[in-house]
Amino acid sequence: MSSVSDVPNLVEDRLMRQAVLREPRHIELVTRPVPDPGPGEVVLRVRAALTCGTDLKTYRRGHPKVPFGPFGHECAGDVVAAGAGVHTVREGDAVVPTPTAPCGQCASCRGGRQNLCERQFEGIVLGAYADYLLISEKVAATNLLGKPSGLSYIEAAFLEPLSCVVHAWDRLRPAPVEQVAVVGLGGIGLLHVRMAKAMGARVIAVGRRAERLALAARLGADAVVDTERDAIAQGIREASGGRGPDLVVECTGHPRMWVEVAGWARPGGRVLLFAGLAAGAQVAFDATRLHYDEVDIINSFHYRPNDVEEAYRLLATGVIDVRPIISGVRDLPSIVDVFASLDRGNGVKYAILPEATGWA
Ligand SMILES: [Zn+2]
Ligand SMILES: [Zn+2]
Repeated sequence: MSSVSDVPNLVEDRLMRQAVLREPRHIELVTRPVPDPGPGEVVLRVRAALTCGTDLKTYRRGHPKVPFGPFGHECAGDVVAAGAGVHTVREGDAVVPTPTAPCGQCASCRGGRQNLCERQFEGIVLGAYADYLLISEKVAATNLLGKPSGLSYIEAAFLEPLSCVVHAWDRLRPAPVEQVAVVGLGGIGLLHVRMAKAMGARVIAVGRRAERLALAARLGADAVVDTERDAIAQGIREASGGRGPDLVVECTGHPRMWVEVAGWARPGGRVLLFAGLAAGAQVAFDATRLHYDEVDIINSFHYRPNDVEEAYRLLATGVIDVRPIISGVRDLPSIVDVFASLDRGNGVKYAILPEATGWA
């Protein structure tokens, strides 16, 4: 027999709700104790967490770098407890973490390529779809920043995905990009549209679903190609004035698209393979295109601390306005429905708030 008194009082009992991804397409909202911070660790009260393409990939098929378990990695919140030795933040501070931090000591880190750190994913902070979140010592020491006062928690939580995009554009330096086609208009593709505009490029947005194409146009895309209606290669060529864009950014994460995008850049152009593929995936490129047209393939993964700093600056100064990318604000128990809906291709990026009352 159960009665109302069996229902735990979350606050008094120091319990919290947290979404756990058990296996593909199975999210459970569990109740567990609010964590206590150990030395160097910090506990946040989550104010906003964002859904992300990485989450959706993990939800659908698992992810080479992100284990099943506590779910969600983009968030912002308030510090409620800081462990011994934490001096950079204190109780009550509004903050934004990234989920990982480099070790600073391995060969990659010492060579300035901290995104490739051997220990990048040790101490990864997962479980942001929750009331509270434990920030590991490694992240708290390097990648836990004060929320810019002019930004909402939702906007600040874009720090991690924008850091990835900033890193990709850093990989494109110093050659100028006058025309870029962004292929795939999920949250990341739309951030690339914004970033390309901020870099002064003309942007061709390539994707499907009228609402996403309209959103890309609203974010500044100069031309759109609807992959469900238009012949894509021809559409991109025409939109670029006949020759093909200087750069094509692949944001769909489909092996077929990885190969096709290499056909769309102009001779001497570049292709940025941004969206990762499933572990073990193999792709074969048209060697003629790569060799005789000197089309360069550039890859980009994750971010370094200086990319985080630059993303922070772009958000805080309003250069990159992320608000239009949010499809809706939902409460924590809606997380199961939100992912089922994203899985069906609805919406782009949702804000999940422990108590959703509106924009936070
Ligand atoms: Zn993400
Ligand atoms: Zn390292």
